[in-house]
Amino acid sequence: MKNKLFSTDKIPQALIVRQAPLSNFDACLKDILKGIICPKHGCGECVWCKKIEANQYYDLLVFEGKQMKKQEVLDLIARYSRAGLESCNIRVYVIKNIEYASKSILNSLLKFVEEPPKGVYAIFTTRNYNAVIPTIRSRCFSIYLPKDEQAVDQYLNSKDLSTSQKQLVKKCFHELDSLKTYYDKFIEYYDLIRKLASPDGLNFANQGLALFRKLEYIDINLFLEICKNAYPQIAHKVIDLQDNLYLNSPKALIYSQIYNLLVGVRK
Ligand SMILES: [Zn+2]
Repeated sequence: MKNKLFSTDKIPQALIVRQAPLSNFDACLKDILKGIICPKHGCGECVWCKKIEANQYYDLLVFEGKQMKKQEVLDLIARYSRAGLESCNIRVYVIKNIEYASKSILNSLLKFVEEPPKGVYAIFTTRNYNAVIPTIRSRCFSIYLPKDEQAVDQYLNSKDLSTSQKQLVKKCFHELDSLKTYYDKFIEYYDLIRKLASPDGLNFANQGLALFRKLEYIDINLFLEICKNAYPQIAHKVIDLQDNLYLNSPKALIYSQIYNLLVGVRK
């Protein structure tokens, strides 16, 4: 590790990572964990550093703010109020994109963030710090995570993509770990979107509807994100669809709206 994140034993128990677009949170998380858990705050050689590097540190729970359920918060608090599995007894939880977590989740969590048990560390991430509620912000030590385009390029270069497709991928994803997680879906949706926007797009209309019915809202958001970035001429209308997405609009309705926008870009 080039720079140690923490060099003292006084490490804040609540951190918020402010992510720049195309930053690499996976690598950052490992640095933070080593900073907290390794007695030398990241020597790279001890048993803890090696466990973390190999993704084998067991008292680590990772959640996505957008999808987290209240029961998961209650389970988290119950589990981490007891001793950990690891002998160092340091328990860490991560909630990604905390700005999207619901009010009831934040309310259940607040006291636990404010008065954490000894050895419990909270790490939140956000791409929009101003959208994080002040009660969370004020309790967290903030870290800025700059972009790591090299790591993104390295990953994309291992894929069979044209230069313009790589540019599109970079516009659609904000961080390397979500890019890796959703890459296969990206390819599937992008392929379909291109067909729908082609002169014989009508032939694929039903295929699109069948796919849409199976998608989670987070997948639909990715689908719309690709449409928005691939066809800038409809971007402002796609943004409107995205804004209304989490009001649980019927999926068939969203599909007919995006389908009609794609009809408009057919040549
Ligand atoms: Zn170490």
